[in-house]
Amino acid sequence: MNQSIKHVPNISPSAISSFYDEQYCGTQYKAVTVDRTHSIESLAMLKGKVFEYRAIGATTKEDEVPQLPLLAGGGPSADDKKIAECAETFKEVIKDMGIEILEKQIRLEKDGHSGILDMLAKVAGEKAMVDLKFTETKEDDRWSPYAWGDLDNRDHTQPVHYIWLWHHIHGEYLPFYYLVFGKGGWIKFIRVKVSKATMSEHEQKMEQFAIDVKAEADAGWTPRPDRAKCAKCPLFHTCEHAVTTPEIQVISV
Ligand code: SF4
Repeated sequence: MNQSIKHVPNISPSAISSFYDEQYCGTQYKAVTVDRTHSIESLAMLKGKVFEYRAIGATTKEDEVPQLPLLAGGGPSADDKKIAECAETFKEVIKDMGIEILEKQIRLEKDGHSGILDMLAKVAGEKAMVDLKFTETKEDDRWSPYAWGDLDNRDHTQPVHYIWLWHHIHGEYLPFYYLVFGKGGWIKFIRVKVSKATMSEHEQKMEQFAIDVKAEADAGWTPRPDRAKCAKCPLFHTCEHAVTTPEIQVISV
């Protein structure tokens, strides 16, 4: 067996999107996504986890209670209070809508595919997958990949993958919902319906990803240093490829 085959990641939405990200660096990808010796957690990601924990009392790591840094005087920051408010609103909303939580933070895993589902719930009397989001974007923001103002052009790999994976494991297709809470007080409850064509495209995407990632593993995970990316990289102090100066761009005029 080719040894490199063991060194490829599980196929998950984040593994796919970070592999094809224009800022991809093979050295970082191997450490963060394949070997998991390092992790990248932005403040926005931490806020999302704090929200999830306060809303449903669970998070991806059972033994860790996510917390935002306290103010110098020991009190919660304004963001912390906002997140607490949103979490309380979540509890009211699911009660008012009659949503019943059946299971929380379910690890979906089979045949090298994985994902973590925030909630399995009963929505309108029907078993469904629900993913919780907290965002600091405005309700009508369109230009950030994390914004929710332009649903048609957002990346929906996550719901497609989860619907596919749930079926792959349990043999049934479940509805998928996003329940999105904006820091500004807005809420969106979005059902994502996936067509057969989209599902088929996703299967092709996963096949291509498996081929591409194996080729990259065989090539030794190509480093792609970039000053801005290296500065925020968890490997910065130990990586022999890290750069602190901008790359010289050559143009011909
Ligand atoms: S420090 Fe730079 S080159 Fe090294 S892994 Fe991180 S992003 Fe890649």
